[in-house]
Amino acid sequence: YQAKSAGGGYRLYQAAMGTDLAKRLTLAKRLRQALDGGKLQLYYQPQFDLGRGCVIGAEALLRWNDPELGWVSPAEFIPVAEERGMMNELGDWVLREACRQLNAWEAAGMRFEGRLAINVSAIQMEDPGVVDRLLGIVQQARLSPARFDLELTESSMMRDPERAVQVLESLGAAGFGLSIDDFGTGYSSLSYLKRFAADQIKIDISFVQNMLVDVNDHTIVTTIIVMARSLGLKTTAEGVEHEDQAAALRALGCDNAQGYHFGRPVAAQVFGEHWLTPSPTA
Ligand code: C2E
Ligand code: MG
Ligand code: MG
Ligand code: MG
Repeated sequence: YQAKSAGGGYRLYQAAMGTDLAKRLTLAKRLRQALDGGKLQLYYQPQFDLGRGCVIGAEALLRWNDPELGWVSPAEFIPVAEERGMMNELGDWVLREACRQLNAWEAAGMRFEGRLAINVSAIQMEDPGVVDRLLGIVQQARLSPARFDLELTESSMMRDPERAVQVLESLGAAGFGLSIDDFGTGYSSLSYLKRFAADQIKIDISFVQNMLVDVNDHTIVTTIIVMARSLGLKTTAEGVEHEDQAAALRALGCDNAQGYHFGRPVAAQVFGEHWLTPSPTA
């Protein structure tokens, strides 16, 4: 019985691996079609100033609703795009689409104040032309880089921290706002944090979600906020779902917050209706 179940377990494991590979190939193929066919979308989630309680920007998040696969999470398809050599093209699309949307809101008489946050993958950072590439897209749309906040994850920066120091320096000098995303999960050191030319740290969702139930997570959040302030960096808490979390973060002096408690990621039109104010008429 033991041998049989062990063997069965092994076969099941192999089958699961096979399915996983097949699934990734299907995902890659369908993602290519979605990208070529203009079937990808950006959703926008508001970011709030915790003290003043007002919207200070939004994060653009990729959304893909495939006719056969249904909604596929970016957490699932971004790694596939990175693996299959599609990430630079996908990243370009995201920034171009975000620029188009900013201009479209403006043309429709809606004022987007603050910054639009754009996620940039490790693969995009590895491109030696990354700064000109991102700057070129923004300039082509006649927008200032200061209207954007580029989010780079702490772990992607730590893949090659010396290079990250330089890329951040150049992106900052070009005028982009810079945030370190998923902070607390990427093992950066204080000395790197000091050298990264970032404006802001985004405290990872895992710590925020547990901060009121796990004293260790509360300590981590507190420490990140204190450390960020001493380095002159702003803090944004990710994944704030409840008022008591917002209140605790406010009491700790966290600057900004994002999460379902404030607003979910929504399509551009919904975002405009809910969160943007009409431009004053001349
Ligand atoms: P992220 O950049 O850390 O984005 C925050 C994620 O948390 C988003 O997941 C958002 O929908 C989710 N979220 C926001 N508030 C809450 C909350 O209160 N509770 C919970 N449970 N979740 C919340 P999403 O949209 O599924 O994106 C997942 C990840 O995929 C992103 O994490 C980012 O790393 C990546 N991603 C999304 N769009 C892009 C993109 O355009 N380019 C790149 N390179 N990566 C992207
Ligand atoms: Mg992000
Ligand atoms: Mg994050
Ligand atoms: Mg994340």
